[in-house]
Amino acid sequence: MTVKVKKYIELLETAYCGKKLSLRQIESLLTPPDAECEQKLFNTALKLKRELFGNLVNLRGLIEFSNICTRDCFYCGIRRSNAKVSRYTMSEDEIVCSAALASEFGYGAVVLQSGEREDPAFTRQVTRLIEKINALPNPPAITLSCGEQSLQTYREWAAAGAKRYLLRIESSSPEIFSAIHPEESTLASRKAALRRIRKAGFQTGTGVMIGLPGQTLHHLAKDIKFFRDADVDMIGMGPFLPQSDTPMGDAPDDPETVKCRFSRALRMIAVTRLVLRDVNIASTTALQALDPENGREKGVLAGANVIMPNVGNVNYRRDYQLYNGKPALDENGENIRRQLLESLQKIGELPRWDSSGDPPHFVKRTAGAGKV
Ligand code: SAH
Repeated sequence: MTVKVKKYIELLETAYCGKKLSLRQIESLLTPPDAECEQKLFNTALKLKRELFGNLVNLRGLIEFSNICTRDCFYCGIRRSNAKVSRYTMSEDEIVCSAALASEFGYGAVVLQSGEREDPAFTRQVTRLIEKINALPNPPAITLSCGEQSLQTYREWAAAGAKRYLLRIESSSPEIFSAIHPEESTLASRKAALRRIRKAGFQTGTGVMIGLPGQTLHHLAKDIKFFRDADVDMIGMGPFLPQSDTPMGDAPDDPETVKCRFSRALRMIAVTRLVLRDVNIASTTALQALDPENGREKGVLAGANVIMPNVGNVNYRRDYQLYNGKPALDENGENIRRQLLESLQKIGELPRWDSSGDPPHFVKRTAGAGKV
């Protein structure tokens, strides 16, 4: 065993035991010296995931209810300047129906995701949706992913009964953030929005894209440190995938780059599990886009404990192409229960149906504060 390998394994053990790691140690963990060490990293993260959550994967049904967006993020297929997309908002009935179907199917939670709008017509519609979904006979827990909003709006949505909120920071590096956004979007305002989300009482989730131009393992280590410092409850991360109708559409996409992005994304999941421990970590659709057969499962094997099958109306799927190659499967179909069961059983896991699946981190941080 070389000195490097020995040191890496020692560090992995230190992380597994829960000792607080320095930024340098986080970066070292993200840089396994060989393929065997990388596998050990995944195995250790999976072991910790299983100790904390058992052999179970929480499911959330994803409903992409509108692609209308006021932002112009350089990477995103639904940015406002992309004239090639036909814009839609599902009707309230359609959205509530999708949520009801998801609940009938056994999903304990749904995610309502959209482009970003702050106008009252939109924010009130979301409030109504939350109320209608909560009035269903067996209401699923609601996660929102609708961008930056005022504290008042976040509070209104929380009061209406939404439980969780996802707002990715995209990159905690000021240089990278400003390279992938127009001037009107700032890292400071994204971070402030994340604090408002927490203040409004939501279980709070964030995340980054992995494999952005110029992004090094040092940047990614800082992202994980940011997650820890922000004390978040949930993480959703995935590889960056160029979308041809965006300013970042001609970013490198050769097989070597893609392979590197995929492997970095898995390492990020594993190291985030070891550093943050009792948070929910999603194995995202972007992983599945790069490896349609096994992408999501590989994320779980690297320590993720949540998957978010798409349960929205399949007719809208082609207009929600955040990136190229986004899988457009109808995951509300008859056989999805069986498929999910089979694919998870293959890797020694089981779907956790009928559970809202709160992250223990949130339960702990709010215990005694009367917020749970
Ligand atoms: N507008 C909402 C959510 C919709 S986009 C919000 O701001 O939170 C959801 C996520 O998709 C984004 O946070 C981003 O991380 C991811 N995404 C967008 N374009 C992408 C691309 N080209 N490759 C990979 N992920 C992308």
